[in-house]
Amino acid sequence: MIEKVVIANRGEIALRILRACRDLGISTVALHSESDSTAKYVALADESVCIGPAESELSYLNIPAVIAAAEVTDASAIHPGYGFLAENPDFAERVEESGFIFIGPPAHAVRSMGNKLEAIRVMREAGLNCVPGSEGPISNDLDENRKLAEEIGYPILIKASAGGGGKGMRLVSSEAELEQNIAITQGEAKQAFGDSTVYMEKFLIKPRHIEIQVVADKFGNIVHLGDRECSIQRRRQKLIEEAPAPGLDEATRNRIGALCVEACHHVGYFGVGTFEFLLSQGEFYFIEMNTRIQVEHPVTECVTGIDIVKQQIYIASDLKLKLRQKDIKLKGHAIECRINAEHPQTLMPSPGTITQFHLPGGPGVRVDSHAYSRYEIPIHYDSLLAKVITHGQNRTEALARMDGALQEMVVDGVHTTIPLHRRILEQTKFQKADIDILFLEHLLGT
Ligand code: ADP
Repeated sequence: MIEKVVIANRGEIALRILRACRDLGISTVALHSESDSTAKYVALADESVCIGPAESELSYLNIPAVIAAAEVTDASAIHPGYGFLAENPDFAERVEESGFIFIGPPAHAVRSMGNKLEAIRVMREAGLNCVPGSEGPISNDLDENRKLAEEIGYPILIKASAGGGGKGMRLVSSEAELEQNIAITQGEAKQAFGDSTVYMEKFLIKPRHIEIQVVADKFGNIVHLGDRECSIQRRRQKLIEEAPAPGLDEATRNRIGALCVEACHHVGYFGVGTFEFLLSQGEFYFIEMNTRIQVEHPVTECVTGIDIVKQQIYIASDLKLKLRQKDIKLKGHAIECRINAEHPQTLMPSPGTITQFHLPGGPGVRVDSHAYSRYEIPIHYDSLLAKVITHGQNRTEALARMDGALQEMVVDGVHTTIPLHRRILEQTKFQKADIDILFLEHLLGT
């Protein structure tokens, strides 16, 4: 088993990884920027190393600094968390070349899944259904593009192959907007991702976002841990997630899960991963695969009783999966609300100092948070402050517990998304699980 882990991340996920290591008797090295020196995960780690100034490019994204920290602390492995370097195949390679274990999938899988077009090509080959579209990069031949868009049928999306995090996609409703939107997306993609390749995809009307969690060891043992519903999003960023997806019957879940397991075999995948789908009119369309731990992993942990971060560590330690598909049973229902330091209506970031911080508790309530009273929220990073996760025997109980937990929770000094979550929970449509990816935009009137 791995003996010492460098946590190459910050915030709640750094703490989450630290807790998994602590359970397993593994020592931890927290990496932090100058502005995170007072962070909770830094104080709780066995060792810590400051890897640079506040700006992510100079600290959390600084590959030589991360590797050097692993060298000086004589660590055996590096856990990248999510965001930052987690899906950077060059980083995964450098970690292994430097003699450390990368706690994640093989670099080749990170590389191919990081390119959306390549991911779609591979997954189509593996038998997954993908959104109708150009099936490859589009050229600058306007006539050809017009013909293609006409065939796919408006509205369409222009997507950057290297895009991610909700960035690099544009909606085109008619031919008149086509040329300009292709050019804009290409320009943005070049600027943001250094790759101007774009492709076309049919814009599905009011789909739901549903994803499947997989766990694979290095010996070809692969299981899926069921599904999550992640349709409550704004600007293509998730805000509420649930497991299992409401209304999805067991036969469908098992069918899609088995297809994902097959696809993992096809690409020689190991580690944990998530297959993201859009569900529209009863059809599942694969859109992308995330090759890392997801923010929303706790809802799956609640309903399966499986610690997904520990699984990552076991797999990286060359251990065989002890999980068997037939033993994985979903118990009850779990829901996660992301508490961001943001204004609840405009969703603009709200940095500052938390004057009072009080967390909810009780049966079926879990909170993953790195914040505390007097915590100063740095302006340099994302605004996630806490994840409140409730688990109940069914969706109604999980929702009631969430409502109670949000009422109990106190975060003073900054704006948070708590009032927005309470508003969502009050909506009859949400209570009936009558949701799709536009639900939140409609509620906010944006
Ligand atoms: P990213 O990598 O930036 O997260 P995704 O391809 O996963 O991008 O898409 C993010 C979100 O954008 C999806 O959850 C969905 O809300 C929306 N989306 C993506 N593709 C389509 C599509 N073809 N039709 C409608 N909505 C889409």
